[in-house]
Amino acid sequence: MSVSNTEEWSSKKKILVVLAHPDDPEFFCGGTLAHWVKCGHEVHYCLITNGNKGSDDPEMTPDKLSKLREVEQRKAADVIGVGDIINLGYDDGMLIADLKIRKDVVRVIRKVKPDILVSCDPLNFFPNENYINHPDHRTAGQIALDAVFPASGNRMFFPELITDEGLGPHSVEEVWLSLTAQPNFIMDITGTFEIKLKALHEHKSQIGEPEAFDKRMRTTRRTKGSTEEDPVYEETFKRIVFRK
Ligand SMILES: [Zn+2]
Repeated sequence: MSVSNTEEWSSKKKILVVLAHPDDPEFFCGGTLAHWVKCGHEVHYCLITNGNKGSDDPEMTPDKLSKLREVEQRKAADVIGVGDIINLGYDDGMLIADLKIRKDVVRVIRKVKPDILVSCDPLNFFPNENYINHPDHRTAGQIALDAVFPASGNRMFFPELITDEGLGPHSVEEVWLSLTAQPNFIMDITGTFEIKLKALHEHKSQIGEPEAFDKRMRTTRRTKGSTEEDPVYEETFKRIVFRK
């Protein structure tokens, strides 16, 4: 497996992150995104749902929560150094990989024209022994992949995006899938782990008490074999580099 934090990119890249919920980008790959921003690459987010079910608070309503999470996500993205956030606004927990959402994501890809698309692995049902992956995560990964290939790069798919909106075909160079059980690429994010934590702190409605959260993150995310005094942190990906 490749272990790298350089990617060997010789030019500045435009990167589009397509994931299900506010907070997914920072949890799944915030260290990598912060590293890319530091290197001068441009990162955009597209969030498919508004996260309006992510609360156990009996006083909370879906409407209040979606507004709150939009603000939290903007603040977290500012910590990472992300530009635009496109919110598709679908209901949390109800994602289906249908043609309507595929078209929405193709529209975003053709508008933003990213070199690199980041999403998550749709095949990962069991990230670890204590957790079933959220169905929206898997579905968002499938929606992103279905949009990338072959739809966004083929003018026969959604031709009305060309005729009505002037959005011609666009193909990405690479796809990076976070939250994968079959990684083929490791990013060392030790240098940006603190930025990842700081960004996650902006998701106040999601993380509970920040000190306990940090402690848990530092313990559970630390690479096996590294120590508390000299920790190493990594984010793993399934990286697909399309043939030119
Ligand atoms: Zn999520």
